[in-house]
Amino acid sequence: MGMTLARLRDNFEKETIDNEDLSQLELADLKTISTLGIGGFGRVNLVKHVDSDKVFALKILNKAHVKKMNQQDHVLNERNILAACRNDFIVRLHRSFRDSERLYMLMEYCPGGEVWAMLRNWGRFDEQTARFYCAAALEAFDYLHRHFIIYRDLKPENMLLDKNGIPKLADFGFAKCLKSESGRTFTFCGTAEYVAPEIILNKGQSLGVDLWALGIFMYELVSGTPPFASTDPMFTYNSILKGVQSLAWPKYFSESAKSLICKFCRREPAQRLGYGRIEDARRDPWFQGFDFVAFRNHTMRPPIKPKLRSPTDTQNFDRFPSFDNFSSGEDDSGWDFEF
Ligand code: AMP
Repeated sequence: MGMTLARLRDNFEKETIDNEDLSQLELADLKTISTLGIGGFGRVNLVKHVDSDKVFALKILNKAHVKKMNQQDHVLNERNILAACRNDFIVRLHRSFRDSERLYMLMEYCPGGEVWAMLRNWGRFDEQTARFYCAAALEAFDYLHRHFIIYRDLKPENMLLDKNGIPKLADFGFAKCLKSESGRTFTFCGTAEYVAPEIILNKGQSLGVDLWALGIFMYELVSGTPPFASTDPMFTYNSILKGVQSLAWPKYFSESAKSLICKFCRREPAQRLGYGRIEDARRDPWFQGFDFVAFRNHTMRPPIKPKLRSPTDTQNFDRFPSFDNFSSGEDDSGWDFEF
């Protein structure tokens, strides 16, 4: 674990919510209400703490499945990085638990659901709405990159809305702490439509991959679909390698939006706008007039305020079956001792 992460980690030991100490909370005190989503290795449930009535999202991972897919490092990174992060645009991890079969992450519940679901309902966002969600990604990346953490999985599915409509990055399954600002990592991971050319070419990934993904994210929010998409990932990778220069832009894109996407999606990672200095991206003409201070202190009105009937309302989530095909069984080999 990098030095910065070790330093950040102190936060986790003192976790409280509304001044209530969560360190006494037991897994047995949590009642499952429903399933919010299915991830790569298990499900995410909405749970209620029986004594306080507080609600949380509980991510449950089947250890046998994680091991079968050889994802132990990614899972440990996710837990350690999320535990260390304190940022309003990153979903909060309050506690983690483990038993012989599973790993558990107790997180803040984001009842507004995925930005992806909102985008599906709206078709596409106007640029003002897209700007709000891109600003959230920028703020989260500023925080992460200052601690040399690369996120590697930006997409509308991984941005959730809290009850007020504040966007939060979730799913840190591919996040990794680099050794330095210019550090690199090589494991191929991410979502096909969002991977940067250097990932496809196995040239090593720097913090620049997140800026590329931000350009793709911005395009998807404004148009409703990512720029490089196909049912065949090889075809997707081929068009990614051709670059944004070859894109046919729908008419409704403003000149400044097109220009910013091109600046985020430069082929050379270190040339991407915001590399080493996120502030440069905040100053781009597309963000002109956008008050980042008001945005950060939540005095700016979010473009979408989720509809909610109660604190346990799940109307912003799809329905999921109660069965799944994850490998299960005990795993006492101890790879998860940090959890
Ligand atoms: P993940 O495995 O982290 O991608 O989670 C799978 C799905 O569960 C996500 O796409 C969300 O729809 C949902 N989910 C995950 N974390 C939360 C959370 N903190 N609050 C609400 N829903 C969540």
